[in-house]
Amino acid sequence: MELPQYADAHKAWKYSELECKVDPLEEIVKEFEGGNYNLGKIAFLKELGRAAYQNPLSSGPVRRQREKKEIVILGQAEIRAEGIAKAELQDPPSHAVEVRVCPVCGANSLVVFQHTLSGDEFMDMVLDYSPDEPIAVEIGQKDVYAVECVCCSFNVDFQLKNPREYGLPIEDYWRTEYPSR
Ligand SMILES: [Zn+2]
Repeated sequence: MELPQYADAHKAWKYSELECKVDPLEEIVKEFEGGNYNLGKIAFLKELGRAAYQNPLSSGPVRRQREKKEIVILGQAEIRAEGIAKAELQDPPSHAVEVRVCPVCGANSLVVFQHTLSGDEFMDMVLDYSPDEPIAVEIGQKDVYAVECVCCSFNVDFQLKNPREYGLPIEDYWRTEYPSR
């Protein structure tokens, strides 16, 4: 990799820069180097990295290309994803409540799913996760339980903490405190 002819080789296998500017591989290495690593943080970073390799927007979202005055080449994948994300909001059985900018691909296609915490389905999820510990939630309280990008496939759920709690510059997704994450 140090030979001149391979100087640009990283472009072939390395993902393009994430919207949140976090380099997941670099951060995973750093986290392990610290010795006392946080499994939740590693899981979050792994998901950022996995989605980064799936990201179809190799030059970033159209918005960023415009900021950099780069020539906007395609944008089709982004336009399609944003359309699908909007359609999720219109779909009554879906729990989609909002669409945000994805921390990986930067498209406006991160679908936010919310559930009323007293709902049976959600309680089953909680019980599966932590059968022995009380959950500090109010009946009828609504909270986000998952986010998923329909463009790059980035998805995390409430079993991980909010990214800021792992020191990552990504806005909060959920507000409820669940035990043992
Ligand atoms: Zn995305």
